[in-house]
Amino acid sequence: QLSQRITNITGGGSDGWDVFYKARRLISEGTSVTELTIGEHDIGTDPAILTAMDRAATGGHTGYAIVPGITSLRKAVAARIQDRTGVATTYRNILITPGGQSALFAAHLATCNAGDRALFIDPYYATYPGTIRSVGGIPVPIPTRAREAFLPQSESIAAEAAKGAATLLINTPNNPTGTVYDRETLTGIAETSIAHDLWLISDEVYDTQIWNGQHISPRALPGMADRTLVIGSMSKSHAMTGSRIGWICAPEHVVDHLINLATHTTYGVAGFIQDAAEFALAQGVELEEKIAEPFRRRRDLAQAILAGQNTVGMIPSQGAMYLMLDIRATGLSGEDFAHSLLDAHHIAVMPGESFGASAAGHVRVAMTVDDSRFAASLQTLVDHAIS
Ligand code: PLP
Repeated sequence: QLSQRITNITGGGSDGWDVFYKARRLISEGTSVTELTIGEHDIGTDPAILTAMDRAATGGHTGYAIVPGITSLRKAVAARIQDRTGVATTYRNILITPGGQSALFAAHLATCNAGDRALFIDPYYATYPGTIRSVGGIPVPIPTRAREAFLPQSESIAAEAAKGAATLLINTPNNPTGTVYDRETLTGIAETSIAHDLWLISDEVYDTQIWNGQHISPRALPGMADRTLVIGSMSKSHAMTGSRIGWICAPEHVVDHLINLATHTTYGVAGFIQDAAEFALAQGVELEEKIAEPFRRRRDLAQAILAGQNTVGMIPSQGAMYLMLDIRATGLSGEDFAHSLLDAHHIAVMPGESFGASAAGHVRVAMTVDDSRFAASLQTLVDHAIS
């Protein structure tokens, strides 16, 4: 018998990614499919970052790297966070992790006991419930409404927190909705976290992809630095998805325990990847903006294509590389619509239902193909919805 923890990860149900698997099967059979499914950039990692990686590897940085992360990289991450939030941050607040997903797991293991309820906002990044189950926690999605741009309401969080909960996980800019939480929403979340003594896990892996407004980290709000664990990653900001490099920023005593966990799990991150990450961060916002720019352009293209028809609605996308489209006027579920679009036009998008019940009747479109193919695919999606 395998452990309940591991067999429970998917909750016993389908993972809701049938359309994605079908698209992959069609591709393996030789069909040309436009994949607007996962958050993978259409450009590779910047050549200058690859050169830095190569230099580090051939220079011999291939042995065990120090478990918490190379001190100079921890310092660079701390400086980036302090500069952008104004919150005093040192390298002792930072653990370098193999990507944001590993950081999400470690953050929950650190704050959630087996049997504890762990709150998160629905719609959500698809791994959240499984990550919580994998540490023995009980996932509790908190519904939001499309007409409120999927922004969480403090009263809904407070109602669940009042039943007892260890953690609250939020994600801004948001995958899958493209929503960026405003100060008022985050202040409500902070006050609720303090009132109910919750750890706040703040997933900020899209912090460089902002189309409107600004990214606010809740760690910077009054009373929050002591109870917030920020999840960061260079997957999206620096197109380094395959390098597996991210971090947790947390109070020092939490990081000390996380280092102990890392010693017994990942045993750190490859040194040459960390060197490349340090090089990438040293390029500053200029490189981050260059990587984010195509998604901003495509978001603008989408707004122009969707204007002037009312079958497909777009949740105002303020950030992140995705669009959440409302296809309820077609009378189809997100899942049925996504299957029919794939079958008829070989365009793969994700059903909203894959990201929680609140996104039913929607589809998520990743803006991850070049501008002209993106525009043509979106037009086909609209025509398909109208027909
Ligand atoms: N959090 C969110 C909201 C994501 O969308 C992703 C990846 O798509 C991750 C975390 C994990 O990213 P990674 O493990 O590549 O850093």
